Amino acid sequence: MARIETPRRIRGTQDIFGDEQRRFAHVLSTFERVRALYCFQRIDIPVFESTAVFARSLGETTDVVSKEMYTFEDRGGDSLTLRPEFTAGIARAYLTEGWQQFAPLKITTSGPVFRYERPQKGRFRQFHQIDAEVIGAAEPAADVELLVLADQLLRELGIAEGVTLQLNTLGDAETREAWRAALVAHFEAHRGALSEDSLTRLEKNPMRILDSKDPRDRPIADSAPDIDAYLTPEARAFFDAVTAGLDAAGVAWERNARLVRGLDYYRHTAFEFVTDRLGAQGTVLAGGRYDGLIGSLGGPETAGVGWAAGVERLAMLLDEPAAATIDAVVVPMGADAEARAMGIVADLRRAGVAVEMAYKGKMKARMAKADALGARFAIILGDDELAKGVAAVKTLGAGTQAEVAFADLAEALR
Ligand code: ATP
Ligand code: MG
Repeated sequence: MARIETPRRIRGTQDIFGDEQRRFAHVLSTFERVRALYCFQRIDIPVFESTAVFARSLGETTDVVSKEMYTFEDRGGDSLTLRPEFTAGIARAYLTEGWQQFAPLKITTSGPVFRYERPQKGRFRQFHQIDAEVIGAAEPAADVELLVLADQLLRELGIAEGVTLQLNTLGDAETREAWRAALVAHFEAHRGALSEDSLTRLEKNPMRILDSKDPRDRPIADSAPDIDAYLTPEARAFFDAVTAGLDAAGVAWERNARLVRGLDYYRHTAFEFVTDRLGAQGTVLAGGRYDGLIGSLGGPETAGVGWAAGVERLAMLLDEPAAATIDAVVVPMGADAEARAMGIVADLRRAGVAVEMAYKGKMKARMAKADALGARFAIILGDDELAKGVAAVKTLGAGTQAEVAFADLAEALR
C-alpha cells in the first residue's frame, strides 16, 4: 500500500507550544502593559502590502529588498509582498488612512514578519516583531521616549542585565552627504583590500561597509572617518539632546560610531540593544529616526522615529516563566458524578475560577492529573458526596480535606 507522505513544516517557520509559547506570550503581554504606561496606542495593519510600499521605503539596495522579501503575484496580477518589517506599512497607513490628523501619533503593533534568510538559532523566515513608532514629531524628546520605553520593557522582562544600548547619529541630510563623500574617498583608497560584497556596497550604499562582518573589511571600516567631524551644529544639538534625555531618565548608553542601520531611510538617531548571549544573532531591538521615509512614499515630509524587536530573541533570553497555574481540578468518580461534574465545572468557570476536569483513567490517574497541573484544590465527586449535595475539596499542598456544599464551591475556592 502506498504510504502517505506527511506534510512538513516549511523551513524557517515555527510551531510555538508549551514552554516556548509561555515565553512568547510573556514578551507580548509585558509589551502590551508597558506601552500603555507610555500612552502608545495599539494598531494592526495588513500582513501583505503592494511590493512598492517596501521597495520604495526601504530602498532597492538594502539586503531586505534585494534578497529577503517574499514577493508574489496574486491572482489579479498585482505584485504583493509579505511584510518584512512594520515601519513601511505603518507609514503607508499613516498616509492612506489620514492619520496625519492625530500627529504626533504614538503607536505600537506586533505580529509575524517574513524574510527569506538562512534559518539558524534566533533567525527564522517567519518570525515575530514588536514595534513602536512616533510619527509626526521631529523633536528629540520622541527618540528619548522610545528608548526609555525599550529600556523599561527589557527591565520588566528581567533581561536588561547584559544588554547594552548602542547609540549613534547619522546626522541630517547635509551631514550625511558630507560624511558619505568622506567615506567613499576612504574606501576608494583601500579598494583593493575590500571584500566583493563591500565593493558592491561601495557603489550602492557605502555606509553599509561600516557594519560589515567580513574580516577583510574590518580594518578598513574601523579606520574610516567618524561622522563627528561632519555633523552640522543642528545635527550635533539633536544628538546632544537625545543623550541628555537618556541621562536624565537614567538609561545607560554607549556610543557606537560604527553603527549604521541597514535601511536607507534613517536620519539622526540610530540604535541597537545588543547582547552577547545569542551569538551572531545578538541584536534584540533596533531602530532609529526615519524623517525621509514618508516623503519617499510620496507623502508630505513627515518626521518619524521607531524601533522593532524580535519576539523570539527576547523570549530566548527570558528565565523560564512559571507555568500557568489553575485553581482546581474536578475529579468525578462514576457516570453519575461525571454527568453532575459538567454542570459544576461550567458554574465554577462562569464564576471566574480556572478549573480542569479529569475524565480519563482511574481515580489514581485523575488525582495525578490534579497534581501535574499544579492545581491548588482537587474537587472529588463520588456517589456519597452526590447524595449529600457536597463535594470533597482537597487542598493539594496541605493534604487537608473538607466537605463543601455545591452552592458554596466558587466562594471556597477563591
Ligand atoms: P540582523 O542583523 O540580526 O539581521 P536586522 O538588522 O535585519 O537584524 P531589523 O530589521 O532591525 O533586524 O529587525 C529588528 C529585530 O528583529 C532584530 O533586532 C531582531 O531581534 C529581529 N530579527 C531580524 N531578523 C530576524 C530573523 N530572521 N529571525 C528572528 N528575528 C529577527
Ligand atoms: Mg537582517
